[in-house]
Amino acid sequence: MCKQGNYKYYHAEAYANEILKDKPEPIKNNDYLNNLYASLQGQKRKTLKIAHISDPHIDYRYTVGADQKCNNYLCCQPDDGFPSELDRQAKPWGSYLCDLPPQTFKLMLEYIKNEIKPDIIVWTGDNAAHQIWSNTPQEVIDSTNNITKMIRDEFDQTQVTVLPINGNHDYWPANNQDLSTANSSIFLEEFSKSWKDAGWLTDEEIAVFTQQGYYSKPLTLKDGRHFNQTRVIAINTMSCYFYNFLVLKSRYDPGEQIEWLEAELKELEALNGQAFIIGHVPPMHYECMHGWSYRFKALMDRYQHIVRFGMYGHQHHEMIQTYTSVRNPNQRIGMGFLAGSATTYYKMNPSFNEIEMNEEFMIPLNIKTHFFNISAAEQDQNNAKWSYLHDYLETFNLTDLSPDAIFSEIAVKVRQDEELAKKYKWNKSKQSSAKTINTCNDYCRQTLFCELSAGEIFEFNQCMGNPDFDFVNDFANGVTNFLTSEWVKRKD
Ligand SMILES: [Zn+2]
Repeated sequence: MCKQGNYKYYHAEAYANEILKDKPEPIKNNDYLNNLYASLQGQKRKTLKIAHISDPHIDYRYTVGADQKCNNYLCCQPDDGFPSELDRQAKPWGSYLCDLPPQTFKLMLEYIKNEIKPDIIVWTGDNAAHQIWSNTPQEVIDSTNNITKMIRDEFDQTQVTVLPINGNHDYWPANNQDLSTANSSIFLEEFSKSWKDAGWLTDEEIAVFTQQGYYSKPLTLKDGRHFNQTRVIAINTMSCYFYNFLVLKSRYDPGEQIEWLEAELKELEALNGQAFIIGHVPPMHYECMHGWSYRFKALMDRYQHIVRFGMYGHQHHEMIQTYTSVRNPNQRIGMGFLAGSATTYYKMNPSFNEIEMNEEFMIPLNIKTHFFNISAAEQDQNNAKWSYLHDYLETFNLTDLSPDAIFSEIAVKVRQDEELAKKYKWNKSKQSSAKTINTCNDYCRQTLFCELSAGEIFEFNQCMGNPDFDFVNDFANGVTNFLTSEWVKRKD
């Protein structure tokens, strides 16, 4: 029996048409954010400082002296044996081939507290080690709770505000979260308990978060400073992550998140408010599926005067992404900043981002990267410390961090200039000596350009000269996109 008649199909394009039909006057020209930057050029105003941490993946089994060149998926654990060759032995502060030992993360927290002195810590998840074939649900829960404790031990007695959200490694099995039923995740229940205990989220915010793993909160700092009509929106990117196969159980708006986000932004617009977004998987990246991210992009277009920027992680690489208006692909309306991973996995120097932002309009003014140089620490214990790596404005000689400047002064130049492309690419790994970049050919530069400028997966594929459903280059990704591009609802 053909049941097709019982279902209604919803296209992302139809959603975009609907949401974009009543764009208000201030954003008709798609230049709101660029103009905001221009209007602040050269002015000295009050700033806020965020330390953005992502992807710690702390390995509590990490053992000094264990084999760092084992044949398993994750090395540096006692089961891997203890080789006599010095270059195979896991070192005290970490190895490029393993996940992060706890003490390097603790040292980072101390450095953030003593040297960076931020107002806010944004922590965008992926806390469990990459031991996905043998870990247990309890170990995954403990990973987030242990890091919560480490952050609390360091910052409870300070005025630092903490804003957390989970990643794909914070569920079990890894990458899988069932969004078909609200209030059904033991993981969300556990994280809710520990973040409520920490005082990071209120009862009201916890009640929303426990349902489907996202929340929104007014930006009030621990020291009492309150920013009028300013909200932090923490999204759950499991609704779009291409390895979350359980998303197939929710064929229409997984976790009802797009509907929720639209309502949040609409409410903020009515209040003349503003927001920044935090999340794990960058919605502009090709690991976030088209059906969701195209709708997300339509919302970012419709509310481009509300959403100031996004902070994401997941790639372990330090990156920047810009996106355009849906109907005017030459007009850049927004951007997201990806903090590099705190873990070394894979072949990375651990890092975090320091974001300086304008306090009134919540736009980022500069981003500095701080890192831990693993190979330097291996050679000399005196080098076992966190330090400043680079500064975006200086490294790329930027006018500012507006979408237009990032596009024309990083993306376009990286496409043309091999030396600059090599620099951008080396910074992606936080200048890891395990990832020395000797060349960046035409294909390499095109890839960097597409990563910097595409707003969602189909755009990225087109930018790379590939079809929307790219089964050839990435079969699994092609299939998940094919299955989730259209949303489906049973007719009433
Ligand atoms: Zn991740």
